[in-house]
Amino acid sequence: MINENLKQLNEEIIAGCREAGRDDDAVTLVAVSKLFGTEKIEEAYAAGQRHFGENYAQEFRDKYALLNGKEIIWHYIGTLQTNKVKYVAGNADYIHSVDSVKILAEISKRSAAKRCVQNIFFEFKSSFEETKSGSGAQEVFTMAEAAANLPGVRAVGLMTMAPFVEDEKVIRDAFRRTRLLKEELNRAGYTSVTELSMGMTGDFKIAIEEGSTYLRIGTAIFGERS
Ligand SMILES: *Cc1c(COP(=O)(O)O)cnc(C)c1O
Repeated sequence: MINENLKQLNEEIIAGCREAGRDDDAVTLVAVSKLFGTEKIEEAYAAGQRHFGENYAQEFRDKYALLNGKEIIWHYIGTLQTNKVKYVAGNADYIHSVDSVKILAEISKRSAAKRCVQNIFFEFKSSFEETKSGSGAQEVFTMAEAAANLPGVRAVGLMTMAPFVEDEKVIRDAFRRTRLLKEELNRAGYTSVTELSMGMTGDFKIAIEEGSTYLRIGTAIFGERS
């Protein structure tokens, strides 16, 4: 089933890229495996999937250890607390959820101590819904400036979550604001910020149209989480 889901999803992603006038490989699929066991990750891995995303620091730590030796590219996409950064920094290939200078500084400290350079995304609050996590544009600039002066971190992109609404225009606007902020950062000299992590099961087609380079998709691959 996971095999078939992945096959269908990859076809839809390629079709979406073509419709948007983008290259077939313009977008990387991150399979969000949170709350699913490692046997499900291994099933997806056997089907050729290599990028996996996790949300919870201890769960990430455990799965990372259990699957050590596989050629997995790990994405940490969940909210991070300072005291949990140690489970993630230097182990995840990408951290998508950097939303404060405080977390950024902790990642820098942990990753520099391991002599690693941690790839990070800044999480941007791209909509006005109260439930959305992430930082405002001003705070993103502050983090970009801080990251440029800290060891052990490389800012590679912006991450956002669109609001859970029916209205496609509201979702599209959130993605568009994220892309525009990335362009603003580039103009201001933060040229390493090239990636856009946006798009989930319910909204990935819109995200592809708005320039996403990393889709974070769980349900369409693994089914509903309990
Ligand atoms: C769970 C989660 C996803 C995947 O959501 P689906 O709707 O299952 O595709 C993507 N991004 C983040 C930050 C998540 O927490």
